[in-house]
Amino acid sequence: MIQTGQIIEGRGGLYTVVNDAGESFILRAKNRFRREGITPLVGDKVRFTPGQLEEHGWLEEILPRTSLSIRPPVANISQLIITMAPEPMPDMLLLDKLLVFAREQHILPLLVVNKADLDENLPVRLKAAYTAADVKVLAVSAMTGQGIEQLKTLMAGHLNCFAGQSGVGKSTLISKFTGLDLETGEVSHRIRRGRQTTRHTTLIHHDGLQVLDTPGFSLFELPQEMEPEHLREYYPEYVNLQSQCRFEVCLHDQEPACAVLDAVRAGELDAERHARYQQLLSLQKEKWSNRYA
Ligand code: GDP
Ligand code: ZN
Repeated sequence: MIQTGQIIEGRGGLYTVVNDAGESFILRAKNRFRREGITPLVGDKVRFTPGQLEEHGWLEEILPRTSLSIRPPVANISQLIITMAPEPMPDMLLLDKLLVFAREQHILPLLVVNKADLDENLPVRLKAAYTAADVKVLAVSAMTGQGIEQLKTLMAGHLNCFAGQSGVGKSTLISKFTGLDLETGEVSHRIRRGRQTTRHTTLIHHDGLQVLDTPGFSLFELPQEMEPEHLREYYPEYVNLQSQCRFEVCLHDQEPACAVLDAVRAGELDAERHARYQQLLSLQKEKWSNRYA
């Protein structure tokens, strides 16, 4: 009687799970979960017992996760679609934090530059700065449809999650893929109630695409538990050079004979991204030293 499925929504202790045949079930987690400190998350693959008639069923087991985000709480994202736009002004530090998160969780990052109808230049600049970091950059416009088919192709086969600042067009893009009328910026200006409080995380299956819709990645901080020494491992362009640094545990910060600093000085690596790396490094050092406070 036990079936397998995936959690697509969780509210007030009730979980909506969809099985492989596309049928949905309302379930509660067994007490054992709480005792063991396990919180079921949207995106989790689960084993469950369906309920009889009007009764809800029971979540029996969470299957191993391929990736995990604590804040926002979601499991099994396989592709993080970091969305930027010429307006609002790009938050480059947020981009780098999201890339660190993605690399740490072995999630494939994809940088989507929306509103290409407003400015063709931003995607070109981002491509120049991020190709060394092994990040694919795609220019799209939800308004004109530019790049949308290509984006769909890149989304196929992944559990996708859009991330990025508020106002870049995430809801507009998700609506395009799902046909669902999500509340976009224009609407919320009129309602003025802040959709952050009304929107919650859901997993949408539509037309063979899987999209996690969560507002939680617009303000994102790296976890306190991330050791500052590990930060460099999530910069592929630095990992490539590491063996040429004089010190084995070179943090590419102030050390002498550092191959990364040399490459930055020579203009081979993006200097602004490196400055932001140093900024994140000192932020993580501070968090790390306060971690028991
Ligand atoms: P979100 O906060 O990231 O979900 O952003 P929204 O989807 O709410 O979009 C914010 C605003 O940008 C809305 O007014 C959209 O109509 C507008 N927008 C979205 N995509 C595009 C686009 O490709 N071009 C232009 N010019 N505006 C867009
Ligand atoms: Zn170095």
